[in-house]
Amino acid sequence: MPELPEVETVANGVDVRVRGQRIVSVWTSGKPQTFKSPETEIAEVLTGARIEHVRRVGKTVVMDLARGKKHSAQFLVHLGMTGRLLVSQRDVPLPPHTHAVLSLGDKREVRFVDPRRFGRLSVVTEAGGYAGPGVEPTTVSAEEFAGLFRGRKLAIKAALLNQSILHGVGNIYADESLCRAGIRPRKAAGRLTRVELDRLHTALQQVLAKAIELGGSSVSDYVDADGVRGFFQVEHKVYGRSGEDCLDCGSGLKKIVVGGRTTVYCPTCQR
Ligand SMILES: [Zn+2]
Repeated sequence: MPELPEVETVANGVDVRVRGQRIVSVWTSGKPQTFKSPETEIAEVLTGARIEHVRRVGKTVVMDLARGKKHSAQFLVHLGMTGRLLVSQRDVPLPPHTHAVLSLGDKREVRFVDPRRFGRLSVVTEAGGYAGPGVEPTTVSAEEFAGLFRGRKLAIKAALLNQSILHGVGNIYADESLCRAGIRPRKAAGRLTRVELDRLHTALQQVLAKAIELGGSSVSDYVDADGVRGFFQVEHKVYGRSGEDCLDCGSGLKKIVVGGRTTVYCPTCQR
């Protein structure tokens, strides 16, 4: 499942390739599940529109569209488990599992490919547009961040994953930021001190920024015509390392389940 840094990398990679282009026609596969808005509506909203900007909101890729000088709508791409956005020349054969093709004025195409079909495509035409369910973690202030958890009884790990509180944080970056902040994943969110919350805020923003920075160098792997998947990895201190030793103190890392998700932490470093 792509997490926030991957989605940001995809959005930025598509943006530099297609910003300013006009969508001249739209093809959709007709397969169920993929289309959250009716396919006819997606085609109608996109055809003839100009791509103003492609960016990330939460874990969704948002394409801002304009007609004339006026913002007209947004095209939302949720990548799901296996969704990819490719920018290809028109003469490159369509890969299997292509569900949408946006033909551009310069004879390239934006293609949405998704073998497992957990991805979702939709359009938003309401004024104001799509803002996502929760607060943006990469820019939230320390003050606002601390306020999000006040009085909450759920475990801090579960709170980090709750998309209506913060949007875009997934399992990897929740575990990694809790490790870097030295906080037990099961600790009640509302019982964290301001000092702990400040540490967590810093750790989360650092780990996301680092991942986005590393992702920048692999953009082409994500959105090139052949769509080879070769994404960076931030060095994980805990995620995926259960049974191994803590890189900082050598204790055995523990695996538990919090909020239904596998969670790995260091019992010595995280209190
Ligand atoms: Zn440790």
